[in-house]
Amino acid sequence: MTNLKPHVVVLGGGISGLVSALRLLQSGHRVTLLEESDQLGGLGGTFEHEGFVMEKFYHVMLNTDSNLLPLLKELNLHRDIRWKETKMGFLHGKRLFPFNTPMDLLKFGGLSIAGRLRTAIGAAYIAKFLDNPKGLDSISAIEWLEGIFGEEVSARLWRPLLRAKFGDLYESVPAYWFWSRMRREKSGAKEVKGYVKGGYRRIADRLETEIRRLGGVIRKRTPVYAVQDSPWDIQVQVAGKWESYDAAISTVPMPILAKIARGRVESSLPSKALVYQGVVNAVVLLKNRLQPNYWNAIVKKDYPFQGLVETTHVVPVTQTGGRHLVYLLNYCQAGSETYNQTDGDIRFQALKCMKDFNPRFQADWVEDIKVFRTPYVEAVWPLGYKNNKPRIRLGDTRLYLANTAQCYPDVNSWNTMVGIANDAAGRVEFDIANVYKKEPAASMATSA
Ligand SMILES: Cc1cc2nc3c(=O)[nH]c(=O)nc-3n(C[C@H](O)[C@H](O)[C@H](O)COP(=O)(O)OP(=O)(O)OC[C@H]3O[C@@H](n4cnc5c(N)ncnc54)[C@H](O)[C@@H]3O)c2cc1C
Repeated sequence: MTNLKPHVVVLGGGISGLVSALRLLQSGHRVTLLEESDQLGGLGGTFEHEGFVMEKFYHVMLNTDSNLLPLLKELNLHRDIRWKETKMGFLHGKRLFPFNTPMDLLKFGGLSIAGRLRTAIGAAYIAKFLDNPKGLDSISAIEWLEGIFGEEVSARLWRPLLRAKFGDLYESVPAYWFWSRMRREKSGAKEVKGYVKGGYRRIADRLETEIRRLGGVIRKRTPVYAVQDSPWDIQVQVAGKWESYDAAISTVPMPILAKIARGRVESSLPSKALVYQGVVNAVVLLKNRLQPNYWNAIVKKDYPFQGLVETTHVVPVTQTGGRHLVYLLNYCQAGSETYNQTDGDIRFQALKCMKDFNPRFQADWVEDIKVFRTPYVEAVWPLGYKNNKPRIRLGDTRLYLANTAQCYPDVNSWNTMVGIANDAAGRVEFDIANVYKKEPAASMATSA
């Protein structure tokens, strides 16, 4: 009887894949999850150092994360979240400026007095009066910001920040993305960030345990090389063999899906490919705290990094064996000169930057520097993307999407992806029950 239950394959074992698998199992499907690497968690993946587990890329949650927090409650992890108020800074010229209160802004040396006042008024205007994002999808963020903040603030603040995030194509990014981001991060009076005891590995582990307990199959080190559909099934090619399923949810980034898509799956992909930003980051393991802020923007021409995040302002040092973790990062396109720098060069530059954040820094504070890269973090959102972003179902194929190309205008985060995965699994469940009814099911035709 059990093998007549519809069988769904999930491509990718990051947060989207894990949540898709969990939801499908909960609604009575058979599920097989295929993950290329030997680790679950995707971009929230971790490394081990001297027996301690730490994130490859900085990860924290917000107290407004309305999809992630209920999931953590369901997994019984919510009591283990530690919330901390955090601060932000700006490295400008040779000084690290705090950037948290109106007084900080008035003292910020990166802008003229008129520019500082304009920044305060503009930020208050967006926060208090711009509730409705209507029309913002079709106007570029920089044009919109220039209208609100004027030329000086845009040139000295917003242009460098947007360029740091999206590279040279930043002018295409719609105001809608910026508006959504500003509202997410500053929705409370104070900036508060959270981290679960045991970190993102513990969340992925708990999801893995739950998926297996419900009968799901997880196959790590199993890259999917091709995916194609037919009127009665969807097939994935793994280790030279085709496997047949009733439906598939793909959580891999769109450029990877474009490489593995065949036949109708390929022809149903959006015709215009998105350009993605990847990231290169150095994780510096320190004996001492470096500086006072969780996050620092770096607005300095030709500086080797665009941001510095000291996660141990939120992550307890008991988690890291007493070490303080500093992430120096550069968002850039895979294959660019910045992306292809050697690990040695990145380590050298990271070490050189430390004194800019704390003149008392000594080289012997550094225990180790790890370098991580990943090619597809976030798309450079084009104008008008709201109505063009990929739908859950890819055309009328049996392939469904839950990937970061769909998170716009929301911030690319675990919270957003949990919501997208919940929706994708719900849609698969609905289609299997209602749309596929009259078609022969793969689980009856072939044993996958
Ligand atoms: C530097 C950085 C900082 C971030 N900070 C935060 C933060 O503070 N808070 C937050 O919530 N989010 C943060 N994020 C965003 C967050 O990591 C992502 O939103 C989220 O991890 C995306 O999850 P996903 O499952 O959709 O994709 P991914 O995590 O990319 O998972 C996709 C999975 O598919 C696998 N895969 C790829 N190709 C194949 C194949 N052919 N066959 C099988 N498997 C395949 C990959 O190995 C991967 O495991 C950050 C990201 C980065 C890079």
